[in-house]
Amino acid sequence: MNDTLIIGAGPAGLTAAYELSKLGCHSTILEAGEQVGGLSRTVNYQGFRFDIGGHRFFSKVAYINELWNEILSQDFLSRSRLSRILYRGHFFDYPIKAFDALSGLGPVETFLICLSYAKAKIFPQPNETNFEQWVSNRFGYRLYEIFFKTYTEKVWGMPCTEISADWAAQRIKNLSLGEALRNAVFGNGNTGNGEIITTLIDQFKYPRLGPGMMWERCEELLAQQGKKTLLCASVNQICHRNARVECVKVKRGSDAWDEFSAEHFISTMPLRNLIHALEPPPPDDVLKAASLLRYRDYLTVVLILNRQEVFPDNWIYIHSPEVRMGRIQNYKNWSMDMVPNPRQTSLGLEYFLWAHDDEWNWSDERLIDLGIRECVQLALIDPKEVQDGVVVRAKKAYPIYDAVYQQCLMTIKSYLNRFSNLQTIGRNGLHRYNNQDHSMLTGVYAARNIVGEFHDVWAVNTEKEYHEESLGPETKPNDRLTPAVSEPVATTKSLSQQVG
Ligand SMILES: Cc1cc2nc3c(=O)[nH]c(=O)nc-3n(C[C@H](O)[C@H](O)[C@H](O)COP(=O)(O)OP(=O)(O)OC[C@H]3O[C@@H](n4cnc5c(N)ncnc54)[C@H](O)[C@@H]3O)c2cc1C
Repeated sequence: MNDTLIIGAGPAGLTAAYELSKLGCHSTILEAGEQVGGLSRTVNYQGFRFDIGGHRFFSKVAYINELWNEILSQDFLSRSRLSRILYRGHFFDYPIKAFDALSGLGPVETFLICLSYAKAKIFPQPNETNFEQWVSNRFGYRLYEIFFKTYTEKVWGMPCTEISADWAAQRIKNLSLGEALRNAVFGNGNTGNGEIITTLIDQFKYPRLGPGMMWERCEELLAQQGKKTLLCASVNQICHRNARVECVKVKRGSDAWDEFSAEHFISTMPLRNLIHALEPPPPDDVLKAASLLRYRDYLTVVLILNRQEVFPDNWIYIHSPEVRMGRIQNYKNWSMDMVPNPRQTSLGLEYFLWAHDDEWNWSDERLIDLGIRECVQLALIDPKEVQDGVVVRAKKAYPIYDAVYQQCLMTIKSYLNRFSNLQTIGRNGLHRYNNQDHSMLTGVYAARNIVGEFHDVWAVNTEKEYHEESLGPETKPNDRLTPAVSEPVATTKSLSQQVG
């Protein structure tokens, strides 16, 4: 029998297995996909590598940084960020700099922005329940409309008035336009460049061959210790009795099932699927709550161009409302090793969709045509430069924070609490807009809970202000993790050395 059975080989599941290994515990991972890494995987198409989006590695949790360095050591590059916003044919710096933004918009628009900001300060909207209210109270409606509304609605596929203010509070620093202008004029000890938005960091780390490299290496290290990751193993049923999970079942063929028993179970599968896989099923209110959880789907059209340099940015946000694409990644600007030769460039055009949208079901050829047309419309490429294209779809890329999700989570959480040997972790496992580091932290916590510690995985990444913005280290004591100490199997240091 396995000590622990883990569902999903994304960052959360692999980190849980890695931490368990450090603690001397055995685990097996079942992964539905054909490769590890989940949303943080790297796809390789004829030597051109690309992410699902662009994955910056940044964490304020020291232990997570240690794990990354330990797993990847010298293949972990330090990068400087360059990203801009494309709007009405003009490139704006991002993070937004007050003078750059206002001069790019011209004197009339600047005047209107100032008026609208003054209005927001004198007559703020008393309720801040949705994204639009939260942002326009801080920046004025007009600036919100230009720099937040279009892109946010492209990403989330719904009006900003239906997006919870929690999301804005989590992602955008509570910084006003007035403060940004003051910083731009007088300078500022913290940012020094008059940023309005500091949801972003200027320096980050990135694996030489993309984020998937981290997770492939992690899987290799686990395999060397006899901890298996089984691919193409989608868990369809989770059987339980007397408040304990007994086994999970993976369908093989039409009516053959593989059954996996374990002492402990850790799931990173989307919460909605987890609830619907439980056998016997939970009460109706729990099933209904799970059905109400929603996810935004995502696809990327990668164009391979016979051109050495297209633009210098890591990525560009496309605020222009006349095209559907939301962002463009330039992978060779993340790491030169993402392309097989320096004469070519691969661009990842990102489309945020629902799987029931028509475009989701378009053929790859049609999507590639759309991508080329939109890039030409934005004056970024010449269609003759395009050598090839490929499309990658990722379902459930973003858990949705809508008006009902919190209530649904409460219902689901209180039901799941009864299980003594099941933990749900990770981004979709907690229905939380987690980056890799927070997803990993829940994996570390889950592993440590198994050996008798107590950590609340639901408490990770719940503070109102997003971690990147706080100036000091994490204040929650649990996030100041120390490395696991027991090491009957192997320390991770020795694991990395074996691979190195
Ligand atoms: C466009 C985009 C950009 C991002 N950018 C960044 C960034 O810059 N920096 C950053 O740190 N993070 C970023 N993230 C977030 C990051 O991708 C996630 O935090 C991370 O991948 C979550 O890890 P996870 O293991 O919780 O979930 P996932 O990565 O979703 O992995 C879950 C795994 O479980 C498997 N699975 C699901 N159901 C089953 C089942 N029934 N049986 C077996 N296996 C199953 C899936 O196939 C998947 O491999 C980004 C995400 C997106 C979508």
